[in-house]
Amino acid sequence: MNDSLIGIVGAGTMGAGIGQVAAQAGFETLLFDISQEFIDKGAARVRAFLQRGRERGKISADEETRILSRIKPTLELQDLAACSLVIEAAPEKLELKREIFQKLDSLCSPAALLATNTSSLSVTAIAGPTRHPERVLGMHFFNPPPLMALVEVVRGEQTSPATIEQGLDVARRLGKTPVSAKDTPGFIVNRVARPFYIEALRILTDGDADVRTVDRIMKDGGGFPMGPFELMDLIGIDINFAATQSLYQAFFHDSRFRPSPIQERMVLAGLLGRKTGRGFYTYGEK
Ligand code: NAD
Repeated sequence: MNDSLIGIVGAGTMGAGIGQVAAQAGFETLLFDISQEFIDKGAARVRAFLQRGRERGKISADEETRILSRIKPTLELQDLAACSLVIEAAPEKLELKREIFQKLDSLCSPAALLATNTSSLSVTAIAGPTRHPERVLGMHFFNPPPLMALVEVVRGEQTSPATIEQGLDVARRLGKTPVSAKDTPGFIVNRVARPFYIEALRILTDGDADVRTVDRIMKDGGGFPMGPFELMDLIGIDINFAATQSLYQAFFHDSRFRPSPIQERMVLAGLLGRKTGRGFYTYGEK
């Protein structure tokens, strides 16, 4: 096992960003995804982010080159076998995550930490099919990972105290501010934040105000850095919808967490926000 090697599963919005954070902190980073197209997209996102940092004088050209050289893309999950920590950032689907963890569990050393970046699924359930659930934990980064300081370190039913200590420690070494959270639906932040999205969608459904008005009011009047619709576009409509669905289920269909048909239609239409160029707003030329 290589202590300075971190593996990332999924090179999307979060995986690419977490990979960048790891490389910036000096770790060799393996970025896995299921197709070259997704790898290329993730790598392009990291390059663009670092380039902006260099143009704004936050990093030097040398640093940019060094960070990029530490990120190695791969299409072979097996390449992650030597990692001391793997952070999974695949789509928010329980069966998919359980399958990935079962594979990682048989590939990696039992001493390696296996972390999920899930926003809302049960860490206990993700660890369920593994032989070593004691080394499975949640490490919930926020979007965009290079800019957001907080990481929720989540203890599943069978996660060992040593794993949590190591998770908190590695989060600090990644330059982040970790907090311990229980394995409850949405942990802390997503549970508190859910009504922000759900009520905004209800206002839209009821025709009480439009997208721009709600966003503007929350920024100008509420002091929020982004309005709920801008934030849902940044997060990804599919990811945000999946998180609401899993909280709704986990709280036994409590109406406070009922998902919005507006979001469901957007997911079915592929209007997923910034990552597809269109969500509540339209982005770039896509
Ligand atoms: P995304 O859709 O941007 O990226 C998901 C990536 O996973 C894609 O590149 C996809 O090709 C890849 N993938 C698909 N199947 C895979 C497989 N079998 N193995 C490995 N990779 C696979 O999603 P995202 O927004 O990066 O979300 C990833 C995870 O992070 C989810 O669990 C989500 O809940 C969580 N999360 C998201 C946010 C956010 O704001 N988007 C914030 C915190 C946590």
